[in-house]
Amino acid sequence: MSRIETLAARAGSRPDPASGALAPPLQLATTFEHTPDGRLPHGFLYQRYDNPTQLETEQVLAALEGARRALLFPTGMAAGATALQALPPGSHVLLCDDSYFSFRTLAAEQFPRWGLECSIVDFTDLDAVRAALRPNTALLWAETPSNPRLKVCDIAALAAIAHGAGARLLVDGTFAPPVIQQPLALGADIVLHSATKYLGGHGDVMGGVLCFAEDGGHAAACHRLRLLGGATASPFAAWMVLRGVRTLAARMDWHCRNARRVAEFLAAHPKVAAVHYPGLPSHPQHALAAAQMRGFGGMLSFEVAGGREAALAVAARLRLFTNATSLGSTESLVEHRASIEGPGSPTPGGLLRLSVGLEHADDLVADLEQALAG
Ligand SMILES: *Cc1c(COP(=O)(O)O)cnc(C)c1O
Repeated sequence: MSRIETLAARAGSRPDPASGALAPPLQLATTFEHTPDGRLPHGFLYQRYDNPTQLETEQVLAALEGARRALLFPTGMAAGATALQALPPGSHVLLCDDSYFSFRTLAAEQFPRWGLECSIVDFTDLDAVRAALRPNTALLWAETPSNPRLKVCDIAALAAIAHGAGARLLVDGTFAPPVIQQPLALGADIVLHSATKYLGGHGDVMGGVLCFAEDGGHAAACHRLRLLGGATASPFAAWMVLRGVRTLAARMDWHCRNARRVAEFLAAHPKVAAVHYPGLPSHPQHALAAAQMRGFGGMLSFEVAGGREAALAVAARLRLFTNATSLGSTESLVEHRASIEGPGSPTPGGLLRLSVGLEHADDLVADLEQALAG
């Protein structure tokens, strides 16, 4: 079995039997020949059901996560919503308090319509997680590291709690793709990624993936829901994700090194009140992060002394870091999350989130230095 870096670098690469081509093919066909009585000699019927490029990408992502099965979706939200809608009605979901904002909004707006109950808990407090369990708890929804405060929760401990209660553990690992974190190996049942971020890696494709430890009932229910609901990734998007994965290991290595440099610079700066980066020894879950991750990732956030106005002024002075949402692309981004999350956001007003890209670290530090100097 090859190492994960090797699997990623060779994703989808095998000489094409027809042409000898090494780059993975992009198959755009919507329909596939079947026998008159409906048998499928190549396994494909119709693009929405399954299609060769999507399947290739799913097999690569499953291998990287050590999963039995992976399902690709047009966005991370479609992947997450499908995992939730496939739960039996009446299920209770425990959502970590620092989860991606749109999932918290989805829970508030849509769960009642879907017959789901939800509690929001701090997953770094395992006693609070145990106390929030109900007889109908079906899913624990963790995100680690989390957005935007980079909280790290204990995947193995949460898996044990979930399994003890007859529930599953899903980990949104978008901030930590498989070359730096593999939640299934720690006992999680499902890993979710917004492939729009590091898997795609170039800010030019949207996608989402669910990777399942078991190819059983829940995975099959998600597949059925995707087929009927129509949330199939386009072959082109699947192909772009596959292309991104081929450089994933090299990109993550550079993202991690740049982020560490930026985090260390910010931590020593007098106008910075706090830095949230799991790679810093000052991070409250640094030891846990070091144990369950192979790298600390390219995402961090920091709080500017002086709060909201000071943070907005710093964001406005940055030149290399572009004010934009999203993350995981080659260019560095900054975002004042409280402004984007809007009223009711629990994110501190002085917090700026950085997606540290692949530029030279000295240039990134120089940009932050001039912006903080004011
Ligand atoms: C972006 C993101 C999502 C949603 O993914 P989309 O591809 O935008 O739908 C989910 N979780 C996390 C942590 C994200 O950063």
